Amino acid sequence: MPRVFYRTHAIRFACTGCGRCCAWPGDDYIVEVSRAEQRRIQEFLGVSWAWFRRRYVTRHDDDTDSLRIPESRCVFLDAANRCRIYPVRPLQCRTYPFWPELLGQEKRWRAERRHCEGIDRGEVVPLARIQRLLKTQHRADAE
Ligand code: SF4
Ligand code: SF4
Repeated sequence: MPRVFYRTHAIRFACTGCGRCCAWPGDDYIVEVSRAEQRRIQEFLGVSWAWFRRRYVTRHDDDTDSLRIPESRCVFLDAANRCRIYPVRPLQCRTYPFWPELLGQEKRWRAERRHCEGIDRGEVVPLARIQRLLKTQHRADAE
């Protein structure tokens, strides 16, 4: 395995709960949501499938559904900047900011501090935890 940034540097992270990763200006990000994740969220909310799809999901492209983002805020972000579906939030949310595209290069990781104030705070994150998160994303991409 190549000696990429996260394997050779101590990575610190502590989420402050600021909610900025769930609200952003412009259309840089989407929140991808697989069918299985949609089912879990639908059941968690206790609404019908048709209602769930109409109200919360939009088609991004032929292969990808994403959560709706009205007014540059995820549809599930409440007024207090809390996630209304936290226990069943999509993988993309559960793994942020430990995404391969951010962890592969120090400059990408550092640049992400503009969006996430939890980067470089708190304790060093064990390498094994980072690798677990990356592996989970890799598996999901392969499905
Ligand atoms: S689903 Fe929850 S964690 Fe994910 S972007 Fe929306 S509010 Fe944030
Ligand atoms: S932007 Fe970073 S610190 Fe803020 S809620 Fe998201 S993960 Fe936590």
